Amino acid sequence: MEKFSVKAVRESSAVGREVQLQGWIRTRRDSKAGFSFLEMNDGSCLGNIQVIADADLANYESDVKKLTAGCSVTVAGTVKLSGGKGQSTEIQATSVEVHGGADPESFPLQKKRHSFEKLREWAHLRPRTNTFGAVARVRNEICKAIHSFYQNEGFLYVHTPIITTSDCEGAGEMFKVTTLDLTQTPSKDGQPDWSRDFFDRPSFLTVSGQLEAEVFATALGKVYTFGPTFRAENSNTSRHLAEFWMIEPEMAFYDLNDNMELAENFMKYIARQVLEHCEEDLGFFNQRIDDTVLETLETIADQQPFVRLSYSEAVECLASCQQNFEFPVTWGVDLQSEHERFLTEIEFKRPVILYNYPRTIKPFYMYCNDDEKTVRAMDVLVPRVGEIIGGSQREDRLEVLKARMAEQDLDQDNYWWYLDLRRYGTVPHSGFGLGLERVVQFVTGMTNIRDVIPFPRTPGNAEF
Ligand code: ATP
Ligand code: MN
Repeated sequence: MEKFSVKAVRESSAVGREVQLQGWIRTRRDSKAGFSFLEMNDGSCLGNIQVIADADLANYESDVKKLTAGCSVTVAGTVKLSGGKGQSTEIQATSVEVHGGADPESFPLQKKRHSFEKLREWAHLRPRTNTFGAVARVRNEICKAIHSFYQNEGFLYVHTPIITTSDCEGAGEMFKVTTLDLTQTPSKDGQPDWSRDFFDRPSFLTVSGQLEAEVFATALGKVYTFGPTFRAENSNTSRHLAEFWMIEPEMAFYDLNDNMELAENFMKYIARQVLEHCEEDLGFFNQRIDDTVLETLETIADQQPFVRLSYSEAVECLASCQQNFEFPVTWGVDLQSEHERFLTEIEFKRPVILYNYPRTIKPFYMYCNDDEKTVRAMDVLVPRVGEIIGGSQREDRLEVLKARMAEQDLDQDNYWWYLDLRRYGTVPHSGFGLGLERVVQFVTGMTNIRDVIPFPRTPGNAEF
């Protein structure tokens, strides 16, 4: 007997096959006519398969009639066309083997719906719910799309380090990595003696693989990294995690325009792939979580280009729009999520790429424009989420880069290898970072970023 997934037996082409299915019971209903209906799920798709277990099964009274939500089973049987509404196939069981029970007194996932807050306390069980199963499948599809997009475009996948000693560009607060016993280690001027630490110097979890990706881009052309990044920002928002996954392409000979074009094509590709491959799960999100999910995905996937607006134009628009913002907008301030959402949800009703930001609010490595006031930065903003991508053309002129580092009090000695890229065969180049969890939020409509990563890390939370 062949093993089948629930997804496979729900296809009408499976009718007539003798199959074996393995998974978990969602519900059991007993009919007066002497048989039971079992709803079973194995994670292969959102929908369950209905199993009909007759009373003449040898273990009907001893096992089948005791099945409750969460029990694990192996079912053998025949796939039949179903008479029930909303389902095309069902299984007529020839055997039901029970692997593990799930005491209904204590198993938390009973029929009643739990809040997402509550489910975070059961991060080890929440993948068994419809919502978190769907999130996991959509997240997987997005990751597939990310790799296939860059591979199709001729990019090389490079692995940048997770432990780093370059206290990278102020992208966020960093977690320190140390093997010193900080209570025991004698300190030099109040500071632990880092020269006695594992790497002979202070080291950290990376906040971005960009600087190292630039090393490879300036040798191999087009590269991308895709890995975990860490930010010890003590902010409890619905869009920030202490550990998140970032995709960072970096391209030699790309200017800011090329960079924006790549970012736009990339977003459109992801939208098209999930629309094509996650139909059932997206239908669920659109119905249960946010009824604008499909529509916004379709606006991204369509032929229309994203809106492109300079930072200065955006400030003009925000300052004159009669909207009551918590943070007023003047030229030179960093835009807040309320401003980003206004632009994408109300003013333009589609994704917006903002570019040429004030140099004072951006890191040292961004290319300085001739106006001496702005740098070639760009952010991609999308409805509901706000900033999803941040990137820039990089400063490739050695002297300008050094001046910018001095301006931001950075020690050039720590960046000697980064400066070497400008000393030897420097080229215009660009790149950006896309937060994976922000994409999953955008695609699913889930409002809290803690619910789109399997095990969220936030201040005070690392139980699982
Ligand atoms: P924000 O302004 O939203 O805090 P940022 O400007 O600090 O983000 P970048 O350094 O530009 O972020 O990082 C690139 C991308 O990584 C962002 O556009 C976002 O998608 C994602 N990102 C940044 N910080 C976080 C975080 N703490 N949790 C999840 N995703 C993040
Ligand atoms: Mn940013």
